[in-house]
Amino acid sequence: MTPDPHAWTHRYADLGERFATPQHPTPLAAPAVVAVSESMAHTLGWTVGDLCSEAATQALAGNAVWPGTRPWAGVYSGHQFGQWAGQLGDGRAITLGEWPSADGPLEIQLKGAGPTPYSRHGDGRAVWRSAIREFLASEAMHALGVPTTRALCLVASPEPVRRERWEAAAVVTRVAPSFIRFGHFEHFAHTGQHAALRQLADFVIAHFYPACRDAPGNPYAALLAAVTERTADLLAHWQVLGFCHGVMNTDNMSILGLTIDYGPFQFMDEHDPGHVCNHSDHQGRYAFDQQVPVAHWNLFCLGQALLPLMDNTDQALAALAPYEARQAQRELRLMTQKLGWLGQADGDAQTVAALLALLAQQSVDHTAFFWRLADALAGNDAPVRDLFVQPTAFDAWACDWRRRVLSQGQTVVTAQAHLRQHNPAVVLRNHLGQQAIERAERGDWSEVQRLQNALAHPFEVLPGSEDLCAVAPEWASRIAISCSS
Ligand code: AMP
Ligand code: MG
Repeated sequence: MTPDPHAWTHRYADLGERFATPQHPTPLAAPAVVAVSESMAHTLGWTVGDLCSEAATQALAGNAVWPGTRPWAGVYSGHQFGQWAGQLGDGRAITLGEWPSADGPLEIQLKGAGPTPYSRHGDGRAVWRSAIREFLASEAMHALGVPTTRALCLVASPEPVRRERWEAAAVVTRVAPSFIRFGHFEHFAHTGQHAALRQLADFVIAHFYPACRDAPGNPYAALLAAVTERTADLLAHWQVLGFCHGVMNTDNMSILGLTIDYGPFQFMDEHDPGHVCNHSDHQGRYAFDQQVPVAHWNLFCLGQALLPLMDNTDQALAALAPYEARQAQRELRLMTQKLGWLGQADGDAQTVAALLALLAQQSVDHTAFFWRLADALAGNDAPVRDLFVQPTAFDAWACDWRRRVLSQGQTVVTAQAHLRQHNPAVVLRNHLGQQAIERAERGDWSEVQRLQNALAHPFEVLPGSEDLCAVAPEWASRIAISCSS
């Protein structure tokens, strides 16, 4: 397949070389397309067959350049683990251009496509392990209804890449309306390039937040307020799913409120507020229960970067102020949906808090608990009670929960259907990813495919996927995932 050369657009690259540095991918030996997201391909107007063709394989590996594309890497900076890290940038991601879709122009980006001027000491590559995780997680999050960058396909090569051990190279084709991060704004602010900062903000407003242009007051304060809202909403999704991002540096925060840069992320097994999924995060800065305040801290960094475009600091503070209340309110709303409650009632927040404390105290599996509630509603309590060390603690809580569910005119059958629609049976648990990676490294991609299929339908148990809904085995807690990818 060769996409129509005239259909590509280059809106971001057209901002100029201060933003996007022309950079061709580095060729990769013996590439093979090993996975494709059918739904993503469909959105782009392509088929799985198109993407597996020899011509597409070479282009997606970075060995050939599709006519009409203008590959580039972009500069950004950021705060990493609370410290100013200076200039970073697309060290291993190269954007080909924007492809028109029903959802508007979407950037097509090759992650792992070789060195760029922003690689610092890195090799510009990604390894199979991390590429498989990013590919599966992006599409899984999308199917769960969580804002995220997408993944179109996965290209694997036998070319060796040095990490803690020798591994093999892979390229993930990522797709998003934009990959602009908080760190892009921080870059132009910290280097004193205020004209470029304004150009960037105007670009983001024009294409992604057009309502800010005509908002009363300062348009850049309106942009900060809008990003604050989207970020609050994103964090609500993460928290109710038990999703830990792992590296919430400001360069990993999307200006569109998307989940971006899947590295050491984890869907928690046992509910643990203090859970730290990133083995390099020794201080626990990005622990599960720190994610909500950390995102607020990151928004303050964005606000600081936008200050040169505002009239005074108070405009920024006012834009950031609604974060906590909005995040809490969105999280409570999602949580009440998960519990099968219609609307919201006094005391809901307390009942939810009591539940989460109980799950933590009893080390209950997060995903399995919510999925099994539908059975418990119909009187089949055993599967959910089995998750507790002291099931009587559940019984007491469940009494109030059940009464609340059935006091709303719902029948058990309709409430069960509601519960199943709002609680996934299957998420990308670490050990499931790990098993699929190990099989792929032995040349068998069938487990990646089986997981991909199941994760595309997370709210049901597909025939042959029953084992993917089980709680984690004992060895899962020993899987160590760090930033190295
Ligand atoms: P991450 O922790 O993946 O968000 O990456 C942080 C920064 O390091 C970004 O600027 C990445 O582009 C860069 N980076 C990560 N891995 C590599 C690599 N293997 N080669 C070049 N740059 C990298
Ligand atoms: Mg990153």
